[in-house]
Amino acid sequence: MRRPVIAGNWKMNKTIKEAKHYLIKLDEMVTDDKKDIIICAPFTSLSSISDISKKIKISSQNMNYEDSGAYTGEVSAPMLKEININYTLVGHSERRQYYNEFDSSVNKKVLKALSLNITPIVCIGETLNQKEEGDTKIVVKQQIYHAFKDVKGRQLKDIILAYEPIWAIGTGKSATPKMAGTVITIIREYLKELYEDNSNDIRILYGGSVKPENIKEIMEQEDIDGVLVGGASLNEKTFIKIINYDK
Ligand code: PEP
Repeated sequence: MRRPVIAGNWKMNKTIKEAKHYLIKLDEMVTDDKKDIIICAPFTSLSSISDISKKIKISSQNMNYEDSGAYTGEVSAPMLKEININYTLVGHSERRQYYNEFDSSVNKKVLKALSLNITPIVCIGETLNQKEEGDTKIVVKQQIYHAFKDVKGRQLKDIILAYEPIWAIGTGKSATPKMAGTVITIIREYLKELYEDNSNDIRILYGGSVKPENIKEIMEQEDIDGVLVGGASLNEKTFIKIINYDK
């Protein structure tokens, strides 16, 4: 049985003060110890919130694959480890779209994160155009093939994969739970081709306009182990409803 993951991605939102306030409030409301609850926060607040709650894990939203060097504006994996950050988003579609994130750099980041015991939350997903062309399956398989190059089967338990159709991110249009479930089953089958039984160890999330109204049905899909939530994670009272989808 894989442990469910409910992850919130704040994107470029919240000052340190706002982040602390949210974390204290959310910590008071969380009663569940059967799920991994993760908040992906901006770099500036990570060190201030990394030990506010024992129930909520803190993740960065990106990381460089080099340890140090002339990469202005970047943050490395050892820098994250130093402040007790053990999770990072990798390859979020907004990084791919606006900041030249390619499958090759996603792969380097995954390998670097794993080497320092940081759990990468690897994001994949097709554009609207690719979906309309009927290419969803090909696109997600290619993204996985490249992102997982040189990843060993025994490492799958240390990776979280998030399927986020780009047309559903921040648009209010979520994939129907059935559609999301179908693609995630295809993803797990493909991972089975690559990794045999280890494919059962990786947790696969759905992301794209998840909200309190659709979370229950999403989590009912057999191969979906959790969700990555953007907009609806910004308010702790909304996010706790998503965390408590089974209560
Ligand atoms: C995201 O940022 O990964 C995301 C899924 O955003 P939203 O829930 O707002 O669509």
